[in-house]
Amino acid sequence: MQSHPDGHQPEYVTPIYQMAIAQFCQAADHLGLDPNLRKRFMVPKRALLVSVPIRMDDQRVEVFNGYRVQHDSTLGPSKGGIRFHPDVTLGEVSALAMWMTWKCGLVGLPFGGAKGGVNCDPSKLSRLELQRLTRRYTAEIIQFIGPDIDVPAPDVGTNEQVMAWMMDTYSQLKGYSIPEIVTGKPICIGGSLGRIDATGRGVVFCVMEAFRHLKMNPAGKTAAVQGFGNVGSHAALILHQEGCRVIAASDVRSGVLNLTGLDIPSLIGHVAQNGFIEGFSGGERISNAELLELSCDVLVPAALSEQITAANAGRVSCRILVEAANGPTTPEADRILHSNGVLLIPDILANAGGVIVSYFEWVQDLQNFFWKEKEIHAKLQEIMSNAFHQVLSFSQKEKIDMRLAALMLSIRKISDAQLSRGIFP
Ligand code: NAD
Repeated sequence: MQSHPDGHQPEYVTPIYQMAIAQFCQAADHLGLDPNLRKRFMVPKRALLVSVPIRMDDQRVEVFNGYRVQHDSTLGPSKGGIRFHPDVTLGEVSALAMWMTWKCGLVGLPFGGAKGGVNCDPSKLSRLELQRLTRRYTAEIIQFIGPDIDVPAPDVGTNEQVMAWMMDTYSQLKGYSIPEIVTGKPICIGGSLGRIDATGRGVVFCVMEAFRHLKMNPAGKTAAVQGFGNVGSHAALILHQEGCRVIAASDVRSGVLNLTGLDIPSLIGHVAQNGFIEGFSGGERISNAELLELSCDVLVPAALSEQITAANAGRVSCRILVEAANGPTTPEADRILHSNGVLLIPDILANAGGVIVSYFEWVQDLQNFFWKEKEIHAKLQEIMSNAFHQVLSFSQKEKIDMRLAALMLSIRKISDAQLSRGIFP
């Protein structure tokens, strides 16, 4: 375990935060990073814990814990999603905020990293309860966020509707409409074309670049996707449209396998109607654990963190592992996969499409001038492929894996900026 700079362990230093710190320290060691900068990066800039009391439909009052953590804002306002999930903790949100800093730095966005969340199970809340929870949470963090301060977006358990309620609450409390306070909103209130599928699309751009690098033809290549929410379902659909065979997909309850290739549009229709993959007739049942160990060309973890660990990494048998989720692979698993020859495209590169198009949305809102979908896809592709090739060539030059290369490139950029700015006062 890496110890905290001042020796004691604050509440956010949980196992997942330790994992983020371990990745950071490895990159810092390789860079020979200034020890003063190293200390600053290991501690979030600001962290807020709020109580979110809600009147439930049956008149009971429930109190949830809400969080917003800003890891860094050297390059601009901090940016990151809001997660509604029962396992949300201050440590998880802090780790995710740090990864957002590295992600924005890597792809050259003028943002720092943040993340927020509420420890609730949105599937057990009525629509009205979810709306009350979102509005109260937004009101509680209102002093902490702003278009030039910190700009939230959707993540696990939140969506366009939740962003619309956040935008409305913030605007009502300020007295005028402020669409640029969140990204990932519906188009009709200032959302961007191409945002809803941006993360999945960016994941597939990376897979296509990896195929080119490995001289593999995408036609008929097999893929397995863990998590079938916003990111997983769009990644699966675009892989399917590119001619790949998506042989398995799963969600929190169960998975489905069809070695001849799942009918992804039908599976998306089934999930839209029933909420879950369960009951889909186009394949046989498979567990999440089995899905991760399937023999396939591309494995796409698109659910939660710490899914591929020392316990199962040795049995992962894909050629390319593209981290659509944040933090799905532990550092021990990284080493096993690397020595087994798996090409791992790290989260801060693979799933950056979401924050890239969020940046486009923020810029469009600030300018009140909206772009065509074709332009958005083209600009997204340009940024993703440039970032992919920068990371790939640096990893080849330094003979290191893609995660270490991506972290080193990003940390170097943000460190240069911090050194130029100095320390206040
Ligand atoms: P989502 O809530 O839309 O979907 C999550 C999916 O994962 C659902 O299908 C859910 O059933 C499944 N899931 C939940 N727990 C699971 C478990 N224990 N095992 C297997 N499946 C499980 O969330 P999302 O927005 O698609 O986010 C998925 C991942 O992608 C997260 O790690 C998130 O941080 C990351 N991410 C999202 C975005 C974005 O734009 N939404 C951007 C970058 C990264």
